[in-house]
Amino acid sequence: MRVLVTGGAGYIGSHACQRLLNDGHTVVAIDSLYRGHRAPMDALSAGHPGRFAFIHADIGEGGRIRAALDEHDLDTVMHFGAVAYVGESVDDPLWYYRNNIASAIALLEACDTCRDGRGVDRFIFSSSCATYGDPPEGMIPVPEHCPQHPTSPYGRTKLHFEHILLDYAAHRANQDRPLALTMLRYFNVAGSDRTGLLGEDHTPETHLIPVAIQAAQGKRESMSIFGADYPTPDGTCVRDYVHVEDLIDAHVRAAERVKPGRAEAFNVGIGKGYSVREILDSVRRVSGKDFRVIEAGRRAGDAIALYNDPTKIQRDLGWQAQVTDIDEIVTTAWNWMQAHPDGYGD
Ligand code: UDP
Repeated sequence: MRVLVTGGAGYIGSHACQRLLNDGHTVVAIDSLYRGHRAPMDALSAGHPGRFAFIHADIGEGGRIRAALDEHDLDTVMHFGAVAYVGESVDDPLWYYRNNIASAIALLEACDTCRDGRGVDRFIFSSSCATYGDPPEGMIPVPEHCPQHPTSPYGRTKLHFEHILLDYAAHRANQDRPLALTMLRYFNVAGSDRTGLLGEDHTPETHLIPVAIQAAQGKRESMSIFGADYPTPDGTCVRDYVHVEDLIDAHVRAAERVKPGRAEAFNVGIGKGYSVREILDSVRRVSGKDFRVIEAGRRAGDAIALYNDPTKIQRDLGWQAQVTDIDEIVTTAWNWMQAHPDGYGD
């Protein structure tokens, strides 16, 4: 394959670049570097000369994206580039809609008109379990046919873009230019690649596992549990944490198996839920450190409990999480953050 990876310098996108390169594919990564990092791009470039290019551009720069698609004759797009914090999306919804919808449409237009009007063959979209919001009774674990009622602007941007993609895929089919469309609804992605090259370095960092690790490292005086009064076994929110390399494996399988003319949605999560307190216990076990935890109020936009029913992805893509032990996931994150005390240092 010849793959455009948007958001390629970000946490998940960089892991996708690495896996695709290791599998022998050609990769062009594009990233605004607003939250992504140049260091992993440089490392991948040095490790895979001639098969990897990095373009510093925003997904909204349709002309530049189209030029890249044409120049490298890219047949596949993995679209990771997005802003992706639930809380931030509540504070600045229009900015979320601009990035995740308006700019993404410019990307899609480039994907439509490139390659002498043939367009790209495959499009794989990073969607989210946040599109489900709080599932109705009987829908946890969450199957793909669960009603989608997001509880945050972030979740709504992902759901709206799913709809845009479905309309676009139907249009391609009508024009006899069938697209293979996959929408992967991620649960909570965590951990780092096991070679130690890539990791999670966000500014600001808001995700539970890296925040807890920073607390264990003594980089934060304390950390907060956002809500201890939820109707869950220990009062804290429940999430499904999938290792980043397993997540990327789902993308590779989707690219290989979803046929032209098909539009498929798959949930990607291991199928087991962990509460916030259980995650903090795991970080304590892995790090061997205790840290101060404050029970704070609920965070706006958070769903109560979300974990995956992996039946469909197992059946149709043959996907199975390789890392299912939460301590193993946390260990990969801990190892990278210990080895890179300043993240990528940029
Ligand atoms: N969370 C928390 N304290 C933190 C960060 C997160 O209690 O410092 C909770 C958050 O409210 C949610 C869960 O941990 O219930 C996972 O949050 P995260 O931001 O990692 O991912 P999200 O589920 O929002 O994608």
